[in-house]
Amino acid sequence: MCRDVGRSENSVELVCVSKNFGAEDILPLLAAGQKVFGENRVQEAKEKWPQLRALYPGITLHLIGPLQSNKAAEAVALFDVIETIDRPKIAAAIDAAMRESGKTPQLYVQVNTGEEPQKAGVAPRELGALLSFCRERTLLEIDGLMCIPPVDQLASPHFALLNQLAREFQLKELSMGMSDDFELAIQMGATKVRVGSAIFGDRRMKISPTTI
Ligand SMILES: *Cc1c(COP(=O)(O)O)cnc(C)c1O
Repeated sequence: MCRDVGRSENSVELVCVSKNFGAEDILPLLAAGQKVFGENRVQEAKEKWPQLRALYPGITLHLIGPLQSNKAAEAVALFDVIETIDRPKIAAAIDAAMRESGKTPQLYVQVNTGEEPQKAGVAPRELGALLSFCRERTLLEIDGLMCIPPVDQLASPHFALLNQLAREFQLKELSMGMSDDFELAIQMGATKVRVGSAIFGDRRMKISPTTI
């Protein structure tokens, strides 16, 4: 796939999204050598990953869901990459947790490219101010951007916007593309694709009624 669009295979990394799946589903992937996983809830990750990591060292865990500042310390303790910084309050909480713990996860800013009111992420026009806040008021180094395009729109303009913003602010990582559009995202410059159901199958079977 990478070669088809002139990208080298090691320029794109698969983040295998294991949310809503338990150890019995994840273990075969670990056994097959997959090392990079994404989870969208701190609590769920905390329940699953310490045991799996004890069995399979060298796992890289990405937080891809919205973060509350009261969970920042747990997130910093658990995740290697936090993709969802989207406001100064979260940046400050992560900064404090990193100083306290000495841990230094990689950090991305989530951009709400579709400016959807219900969706997490900083508005594109406010990205510059958030990056300045991180640079001037915290020790955080932001490595990349992440987006989740609106479900009812073509993804390509959103991927193009994220790519343009990453160039403008000289950020190297671009986390975009999910099961339905990861090929397009790779074509448009993604360095991380977050793929769940295309690997694990349908998540709806796995979700308990309270989380729907
Ligand atoms: C669930 C999720 C994914 C994976 O979605 P699929 O369509 O199952 O591949 C990717 N990114 C985020 C932020 C998610 O919450």
